[in-house]
Amino acid sequence: MAKCPICGKPAEQAYRPFCSDRCKKVDLNRWLSGVYKIPASATPPDEDEKSSD
Ligand SMILES: [Zn+2]
Repeated sequence: MAKCPICGKPAEQAYRPFCSDRCKKVDLNRWLSGVYKIPASATPPDEDEKSSD
C-alpha cells in the first residue's frame, strides 16, 4: 500500500497519495514554496555563445 509522503502513514483513498487533507495541503505548500524559490546558482548554459575572432 502507498504511504503518505508527508508523515508516512497509510494513504487514504480520498486523499491519495496522502493520508489526510492536512498532509495534502502541507505538500501543496512545499510545492508552491519550491516554485517561487528560484536558485541563483542554477544558470542555464549559454549555448549561443560564440567566439568568432
Ligand atoms: Zn500524512
